[in-house]
Amino acid sequence: MVRCEVCGREIRGKPYRRIIEGAKVIVCEQCARFGKEEWTPTPSTPPPRPRPQRRDEVEAAESLVPVEGYGSLIRRARERLGLEPKELAQLLGEKLSTVKKLEREEFVPDRTLAQKIKRILKVDVLTRETVRTTIFTAPPRTPTLGDLIKLKEKKEESSSAALSAFKGL
Ligand SMILES: [Zn+2]
Repeated sequence: MVRCEVCGREIRGKPYRRIIEGAKVIVCEQCARFGKEEWTPTPSTPPPRPRPQRRDEVEAAESLVPVEGYGSLIRRARERLGLEPKELAQLLGEKLSTVKKLEREEFVPDRTLAQKIKRILKVDVLTRETVRTTIFTAPPRTPTLGDLIKLKEKKEESSSAALSAFKGL
């Protein structure tokens, strides 16, 4: 039995859903005239929540990793410019030990230092890490933002580089 939420009488026949003074009520036919607007019942199941961003993939796709042999890259570029390790350290605003560690690949430069190295030595010591394992092993599904970033990067790389990196996994 459904009672009219306005007059309290039992609703015989069709209940009316009306918005009366801002409230969603179920009313009888007589009281339906008090509200001009109708409302539709919300489904019992809550609407699906938006897909969470796959933050892990996005961050992995955007993270920078040192390029292979970055130590010798730095050393060769420094020697090409005729700089002593100490002079390079001064240019970078780093300690001599840092430069030595960089060249021995005992120290991975952060993004800021990598930018300085690039500006002074014209070499890229950091590269974007791509998560190819995910692409090759993940079951088919709707592409996420992370996938799109990775696909974009895959396109930008030469296929041979991607293949050799894949073999190395
Ligand atoms: Zn009523």
